[in-house]
Amino acid sequence: MNPRPYIGRFAPSPTGPLHMGSLLAALGSWLRARQAGGRWLVRIEDIDPPREIPGAADAQLRTLHAFGLVPDEPPVWQSRRSAHYQEALELLLQQGKAFACHCSRMDLAASNGIHRRCVSRHRRANPAIRLRVAGQPPITFTDLLQGPQRQDVAADVGDFVLRRADGPWAYQLAVVVDDAAQGITEVVRGADLLDSTPRQILLQRMLGLPSPGWLHLPLVCAADGRKLSKSLAAMPLDERDPLSALALAWQWLGQDPTCLDGLSTPAAWLHQATAAFDPDRLPRTLPPLAATHNETFMDSP
Ligand code: GLU
Repeated sequence: MNPRPYIGRFAPSPTGPLHMGSLLAALGSWLRARQAGGRWLVRIEDIDPPREIPGAADAQLRTLHAFGLVPDEPPVWQSRRSAHYQEALELLLQQGKAFACHCSRMDLAASNGIHRRCVSRHRRANPAIRLRVAGQPPITFTDLLQGPQRQDVAADVGDFVLRRADGPWAYQLAVVVDDAAQGITEVVRGADLLDSTPRQILLQRMLGLPSPGWLHLPLVCAADGRKLSKSLAAMPLDERDPLSALALAWQWLGQDPTCLDGLSTPAAWLHQATAAFDPDRLPRTLPPLAATHNETFMDSP
């Protein structure tokens, strides 16, 4: 039982416009929060400048508004939260749970990129900082949709990076610090991040932070089975026609389409969807995107 009031979030990286995969995570997290009578927050994960597209974050926020997905607080921007990441990093360093690492990618090639001990013979001016994971027991948790999970972080992932040698904060550290700071009680996001969750749980434990509940939504895959990236459904969401995309996301979330017939604004649609949403209908996986889905979406008026 979680006595804290429900707070959910959507945390896009501003690497491009929102697409159907993003909408699934945004809508799924929004519905869970609204149905729980809780709050829904947005966090812009802009800590990886080389991957960012100028203006993408503002465009994402505009799209969310056009879709009626309006956060309950002003969005949090990770680029403005360095001091908080630094504080967490120092705590881990002081306690010997993190360490400076001079290994290069090439140094780790022999161990498939997995860091178990430092093998570098050269010191770098700006070493990376890694979390020391040796001796940590396997992490187990139950995802609310994907079921029981287990990962031996020490064996499968190794000492992972918290701050990169070239400067940027690692996603794993920033997400853990921010989910705690924002009081997130349940993380709803795409299943591509299921594999990151044990690392985040480990960090939460090491930093003495609470772990939220986890619900990983199925990924929208292109017909050839790859993660959605080049297919038509990776096209930017059309702000002029939010209802068609919302209806498709609703269908991909396994929900009954008939309960939302005849609604003409995103606000009315979302209101009705909150009442009709049935988490028991969420699918664990989605069939590869059939061409007809693309056509239905793209051809909708
Ligand atoms: N920023 C991440 C992404 O866009 C999502 C992070 C999260 O939901 O934990 O893939």
